[in-house]
Amino acid sequence: MEKDTYYYAVRLSDGSVLRIADTEQNAYGLWRSSFGTLAAVAVLILLLAAVIAWLLTRSIVRPFNEIDLRHPLENQTYDELSPLLSRMEKQNREIDEQMQTLRARREEFDVITSNMQEGLVLFSKDGHVLSANTAAIQILSGTAGSSYLDLCSDHHYRTVVESALSGKAKTKKMRRGGRVYTLAATPVEGTLRENAAVLFIVDITDSELSEKMRREFSANVSHELKTPLTSILGYAEIIGNGLVKQEDVPKFTGRIQKEAARLLTLIEDIIKLSQLDEDELQAEFVPVDLYALCETVVQELTPKAQKMRVSLELAGEGVFVNGFEPSLFEMVHNLCDNAIAYNRPGGYVHILVKKEAGQARLSVADNGIGIAKEHIGRIFERFYRVDKSHSKETGGTGLGLSIVKHAALLHDAALSVESTPQVGTTISVVFQAPDMAEPQ
Ligand code: ADP
Repeated sequence: MEKDTYYYAVRLSDGSVLRIADTEQNAYGLWRSSFGTLAAVAVLILLLAAVIAWLLTRSIVRPFNEIDLRHPLENQTYDELSPLLSRMEKQNREIDEQMQTLRARREEFDVITSNMQEGLVLFSKDGHVLSANTAAIQILSGTAGSSYLDLCSDHHYRTVVESALSGKAKTKKMRRGGRVYTLAATPVEGTLRENAAVLFIVDITDSELSEKMRREFSANVSHELKTPLTSILGYAEIIGNGLVKQEDVPKFTGRIQKEAARLLTLIEDIIKLSQLDEDELQAEFVPVDLYALCETVVQELTPKAQKMRVSLELAGEGVFVNGFEPSLFEMVHNLCDNAIAYNRPGGYVHILVKKEAGQARLSVADNGIGIAKEHIGRIFERFYRVDKSHSKETGGTGLGLSIVKHAALLHDAALSVESTPQVGTTISVVFQAPDMAEPQ
């Protein structure tokens, strides 16, 4: 019934008994009747608490969420967070510094590799091109970011890259677009383990060319030495066999002498050429007075000029050029020597040294036999002679002008030839900025 009845009885003075009863709801009944209200209130309180908790949490957490991680010390937040924020600031600074160093290194690497004349390519383990510098892309004429097979179809290129990818370094030569390259591929180990191979491409066209020239030179030298020696041997044999009449012996020994002298000149010229090559490696450029140098050459060649009945004149002014004196001396000497040798009796040789708009001009002009147009382009080649028999008579070896060209190259000087057969020849050498070289 959810109710309890309470009774109370009192005996009155007249002897009667007064009894009263009262029925009240018991605790269970009370709970049952107020359960709905209580539940509603509880739900309300819970909701309210949840809202309040949410709001409170939000207001507590907001400063954390709003922390500017890039500038931790600029945040207005709980004091308790200060040590954490200053550590963060320190770490940020360290990260920034590391990033800057990395960026600088990357830029440095990019600048170096993009300005390199050598090609540099990095391949991943699976043969993908991770990076290729401008030179490599130009040489291999492919595209970076693709497979190594797309970068170039050359057989030697594929062989070296495949070898490096399989862990074995390999070097090969590759001919492409008229040039010669060395391809050196190496497997990458250690810190860069991600990149499986590196390919280095070096243009060796010039050294190949000079190697070829050296080979040709050796062949020519042997040939040039053989010719006079064969003559000497021949003459000696004839004399030895008694096939020469007594009165002809001086004629034959004269020929032997001439051939031997030629041989000696040839050997001297060859030695000179290799000596110049050798010396130039350690050549120290100093200011050299071209005019004074020409005076020395004129002094030395005057007897020869007189013998040939050729006048030798020097004109101009003192001009200093930065140079290697022995090489410059050979240059002037050979030009003047040729101008005398390829002349005619009564001819002249005019040497002129002058300053010319920041340049020094040396020209050697003669009115000798001249050079036909078709030979002009070849006279600076080693052992090249326009007229072998005439050159032989004058004791020429065909090396004189190649020494001149050599010296001009060493001094970055421009060589030019003007010549008309039977009229004469002028060979000029123009050096750069003579004023800079003038001694203090
Ligand atoms: P060589 O030892 O024969 O003189 P060079 O190299 O000095 O060799 O010269 C090559 C050739 O160029 C000579 O054989 C000659 O035919 C020609 N030559 C050089 N200088 C003159 C010149 N001044 N006049 C005419 N021909 C010249």
